[in-house]
Amino acid sequence: MAPLRMVILGRQGSGKGTQSEYVTGRFGCVHLSTGDALRAAVAADTPLGRQAKTIMDSGRLVGDDIMNGIVRDRLAEDDVAAAGVLLDGYPRTADQAGALEAILDDLGHRLDLAVNIDVPIEEVTARMMDRGRSDDTAEAIQRRLELYEEQTAPLRDWFESRGLLATVDGVGTPDEVFERVVAAIERGRA
Ligand code: AMP
Repeated sequence: MAPLRMVILGRQGSGKGTQSEYVTGRFGCVHLSTGDALRAAVAADTPLGRQAKTIMDSGRLVGDDIMNGIVRDRLAEDDVAAAGVLLDGYPRTADQAGALEAILDDLGHRLDLAVNIDVPIEEVTARMMDRGRSDDTAEAIQRRLELYEEQTAPLRDWFESRGLLATVDGVGTPDEVFERVVAAIERGRA
């Protein structure tokens, strides 16, 4: 089977991280979470991490150039070429989506699909308040949800217009949602 290359979309708190782990476990592709990459840079106190920390703590988005650079470098590595990739948390803006298309094109690859995990706003807010991460203050959560609607939700249309979007009901147990995700992936690759 050809390596899987996909994007996972969903509001923060939609269960996208859990589904990403399940998908990479089943399909053997590399999990590229830009949030995790940034948190690792913060933990390692690199120049990028120091720059990103203030932005992340305020719930705003790190600049497109920085994010596109991180993704470009990672996608060019051999393990991604061989095993494929699941992009989690990227693209988050139309500019990033355009950059991703160009990056994959340069590498001679293309995306199989974008799976959108659909969970209502009230439910994701409750889930995020429960997980208690340091950047999960009520204000930061609200700001991220607003930004998501403004900048990231339009990406659904972007993927839809390319025939790449699959929306999956994200309410249910992780296993139930995973079954729906696998079905969407199988349809997307057929
Ligand atoms: P996440 O773990 O995906 O919720 O990301 C945590 C934080 O990292 C976000 O609130 C942003 O500040 C930053 N971040 C992660 N991915 C991106 C991206 N693709 N573009 C801009 N900022 C990002």
